[in-house]
Amino acid sequence: MAFKSIRDVALSGKTVLLRADLNVPAKDGKVTDTTRIDRLKPTVDELVAKGAKVVVLSHFGRPKGGPSDEFSLKFLAPALEKSWGHKVAFAEDCVGPKALEKVKALQPGQILLAENLRFHKGEEANDPGFTADLAKLGDIYVNDAFSAAHRAHASTEGLAHLLPTAAGLLMEAELNALSAALEAPKKPVMAIVGGAKISTKLSVLDNLVRKVDVLFLGGGMANTFMHAQGIEVGKSLCEKDMADEARKIMATAKASGCEIMLPVDRVIVDKFGENAPHEVVSADKMPKDREAVDIGPETVKALRKKLESCKTVLWNGPLGVFEVKPFDKGTNEAAKAVADLTQAGKLVSVAGGGDTVSALEHAGVAEKFSYVSTAGGAFLEWMEGKELPGVAALSQAKKAA
Ligand code: AMP
Repeated sequence: MAFKSIRDVALSGKTVLLRADLNVPAKDGKVTDTTRIDRLKPTVDELVAKGAKVVVLSHFGRPKGGPSDEFSLKFLAPALEKSWGHKVAFAEDCVGPKALEKVKALQPGQILLAENLRFHKGEEANDPGFTADLAKLGDIYVNDAFSAAHRAHASTEGLAHLLPTAAGLLMEAELNALSAALEAPKKPVMAIVGGAKISTKLSVLDNLVRKVDVLFLGGGMANTFMHAQGIEVGKSLCEKDMADEARKIMATAKASGCEIMLPVDRVIVDKFGENAPHEVVSADKMPKDREAVDIGPETVKALRKKLESCKTVLWNGPLGVFEVKPFDKGTNEAAKAVADLTQAGKLVSVAGGGDTVSALEHAGVAEKFSYVSTAGGAFLEWMEGKELPGVAALSQAKKAA
C-alpha cells in the first residue's frame, strides 16, 4: 500500500493535526497503562524535531450528548508531558474559536492537546462540515491511530480528503508488521487463535484458513471445533450451535491446504476457581462432568515443535483461562516458545487484539515478540481481511507536500 510517512514530508513551521489514540485505561483521573501514549513518542519527537506545530486530536470513551468532565482529555496533558518529555498545552475544544486561538499561538516545536473529538456529533458521523472545521486548524494531517482506523470518522478518515496527509511512525510500524505477518509473510505461516468463543471470530478464522499454512486453535473455541468433530468436551465452554460453522471452516481449511491443530491434551477441573484442583487428560478422554480450562503439556510440546518449522506466527487470543492461576500455564509456555524462537531470529511474531496483549504481558514476553499491536477492534478487522477505512484513506489521500 502506497502512503506517505512523516519522514518524507517537509514539516518546518507547518501546523500538523496529529490523530492519536489516547483512549487509554484510566482510574480516578490517572492513566493506569501508558503504553499507547509511550508508543506515540517517536512520532511526536520527529514532528517537534522538524519544527512542526503539533495539534494532538483524539477521542476518549463514548461521551453521549456533548462535553462532560467525565470524558474530558484535560487530565491527560501531564501524562503526555511525562511520557513525551515536551510541554503540552490544552485547548478546551477541538474546533471553533477556542481551538483556533490556541493553535494560532503555537510556535514551531510546541504541542497542543485538543479536547475530545467525540464531544461533537460530527466526528463519528464523519460530517463534512465538522471535518472542514477540523481542517481549518492545520496544514497537514498525520494519522498515527491504527487502533481507530476501523472507524470512518472525521478525524480518522474524513481529514485525509481535505488536507495533505501522512502516516505517523506508529501507524507505519503497525502496517509494516501486519504486512509482514499476513500480506507478504515468510512462509510457512502459523496463526494461533484462542479466546472464549468462535462466534466472535468466525470471519477471522474464515480468512485465516485461506491464508496461513497452519491454524492452531486453543482456548474455549477449540471446544466447539472438537465438539463439531464428535469429540467429547464435557462441561467446557462450547458453542454447540456453531458446530456447522466450525465444520465449514474446517472444510475451507482443507480446500486451502491449511492444517488445523487442536489440543491433544487438556487441563480439566471439576469446579473452576483460583488454584482449583485439576488434572491433565488426553483430549479423547474428556470426562462428561468436567471442564477444560487450559491446554496441556503435550499440546504445548506439539505447538512448539510445529512453530520450529514455521517462519511467521500471528497470534490472537489466550489459550486458556489465563486470568486465573494456574490455568495461565499453557498460554505462558506457548508465548515463551514464540518469544524464544523470535529472539533466536527464527520466527517473525505478530500478536494483537484485546486480551492478547494482557496475556503476553502476563507471560512476561510481550517485548520479545517482533510486534505486539495494542489495537483491539482494528486488529481483528484486519485479521478478517477487511479494508480499514483509516488505512485506505492514507493512500487515497490528498498527497502531502
Ligand atoms: P477473547 O476476547 O475471545 O479473546 O476471549 C478471551 C477470554 O477467553 C479470556 O478471558 C479467557 O479467560 C477466555 N478463555 C480462554 N480459554 C478458555 C477456556 N478453555 N474456557 C473458557 N474461557 C476461556
